[in-house]
Amino acid sequence: MNTIKQNLVNVRSHIDAAIQKCGRSPKEVTLLAVSKTKPTSAIEEAIACGQTEFGENYVQEGVDKINYFANNSTLIWHFIGPLQSNKTRLVAEHFHWCHTIDRLKIAQRLSDQRPSSLPPLNVLIQINISDENSKSGITLTELDGLAAQISILPGIKLRGLMAIPAPESDYNKQVAVLEQMNIAFKQLQMQYPNIDTLSMGMTDDMEAAIACGSTLVRIGTAIFGARDYANK
Ligand SMILES: *Cc1c(COP(=O)(O)O)cnc(C)c1O
Repeated sequence: MNTIKQNLVNVRSHIDAAIQKCGRSPKEVTLLAVSKTKPTSAIEEAIACGQTEFGENYVQEGVDKINYFANNSTLIWHFIGPLQSNKTRLVAEHFHWCHTIDRLKIAQRLSDQRPSSLPPLNVLIQINISDENSKSGITLTELDGLAAQISILPGIKLRGLMAIPAPESDYNKQVAVLEQMNIAFKQLQMQYPNIDTLSMGMTDDMEAAIACGSTLVRIGTAIFGARDYANK
């Protein structure tokens, strides 16, 4: 059985190979370790290997882990799950990032509820790029309007875009979808100087995502192993 340490080494070398293949610089791509459903002991193992950025999908589980690791100020916590308006306060008060903004109401609440003692919450707009079965995310035609509304909110800072494409195993088909995200990202960057983050790429499509400009890949299974949802 692979350990988390071995898995992290493998994932990092896989990422580095993908970066080299398309002529980008290693500094341009951050590895987000998706630790949802995994115990704090697994996160501790990853921290011991130098991992500092973690992604969580469930608000209370994420807050519990953030509190558990509160004395480690080097850690950066990303909320990457669907967010309902009755849970925004916990995200605003505890996380550093939220990737799943797809309506003004949620952004407004996060901005209002962000404690003034903390820097603005970093946010990404979630784009529904290909998954017709998912209700999360806006279409690309809605992007300019929502970005304009979000960019003026004082408690949050718009940093870029996020997508969860429909599962697809063919590399060229993955690229065809992810390249649309890259184009939208570059257009947004021309309008807003703070935009620097394109969150896409999971265990099965990270090579294509890196070729298409991803700056942050979200990897769970390849680091921590298969998830057990029995208690969810
Ligand atoms: C669970 C999850 C991941 C990690 O997926 P893996 O296939 O385990 O790498 C990445 N992004 C989001 C939004 C997720 O919910």
